[in-house]
Amino acid sequence: MMDTGDRGTVRGCRMIRINQIKLPLSHRQEDLIYKAAGILRVAPDNILSWQIVRRSIDARKKPDIMFVYSVDVCVKAEKKVLSGCRSAQVQAVADTAYTFPAEGTEPLRHRPVIVGAGPAGLICGYLLAGHGYCPLILERGKCVEQRQADVERFWREGVLDTSSNVQFGEGGAGTFSDGKLNTLVKDRFGRNKEVLRILVEAGAPGEILYDAKPHIGTDILCRKHHTMGRRDQVRRAGDGSAAVGRGSCGCGNRAG
Ligand SMILES: Cc1cc2nc3c(=O)[nH]c(=O)nc-3n(C[C@H](O)[C@H](O)[C@H](O)COP(=O)(O)OP(=O)(O)OC[C@H]3O[C@@H](n4cnc5c(N)ncnc54)[C@H](O)[C@@H]3O)c2cc1C
Repeated sequence: MMDTGDRGTVRGCRMIRINQIKLPLSHRQEDLIYKAAGILRVAPDNILSWQIVRRSIDARKKPDIMFVYSVDVCVKAEKKVLSGCRSAQVQAVADTAYTFPAEGTEPLRHRPVIVGAGPAGLICGYLLAGHGYCPLILERGKCVEQRQADVERFWREGVLDTSSNVQFGEGGAGTFSDGKLNTLVKDRFGRNKEVLRILVEAGAPGEILYDAKPHIGTDILCRKHHTMGRRDQVRRAGDGSAAVGRGSCGCGNRAG
């Protein structure tokens, strides 16, 4: 996998987005940086940090199949660079990193309760636990390991467990989905990116952060590692004291 770039932001530096950078499938990482620098008319050393934000494939002119990138870069003297570069491929971009909503002022009397450990419940629990809200996730189905055995038994013998099947159980319908991560295309608040970032942290391939059609695949989903990773992450985000499966997961300290 190609490095996605230096994700660190450089203080006080606005990001510049360069779209439609076309490179052959066999290109090297340096080619992308050189090409970006060429479009901006700066030396490659002037690029302080960079990050791929999108990668798609242009297969219209076979056999010349190309990757098409959008890349965000921080450069030295970005105002000067922007004014000196008249390319329609280049634009200044605002930072759309996800920010958790501001805290209220009244202590909660009870910990937040989340019903269902599907993708929505797990991400919600992860974020709340990470911010000290002590969430309790209630899941009617079984943990993912037992669930996979129940699903296989259903396919083999036709015996349905109504609480542990393709739809119900830890990970929700997401666990046995195709793993096509197509959601929130117009990501104004950075939520989609944040969810993908959490999935990568839990072991999903890094390409999902920038591929135009991010896809994990049922096999990886069923190999459990990132569903389990999310469960463990919820625990890690809290104080680690919670139970798993049919019960609670994730704990912090903000609830009163
Ligand atoms: C076969 C299949 C393939 C799919 N493929 C894709 C795909 O490729 N790409 C894509 O983006 N989407 C896909 N989807 C859709 C995707 O899985 C759902 O959009 C997603 O799972 C919804 O997440 P959720 O957390 O809102 O709900 P769910 O995933 O449905 O999770 C709900 C959870 O709540 C639990 N629950 C329900 N009732 C209760 C209760 N009373 N008490 C406690 N717990 C309860 C359930 O057990 C479940 O774990 C697919 C769905 C299916 C079924």
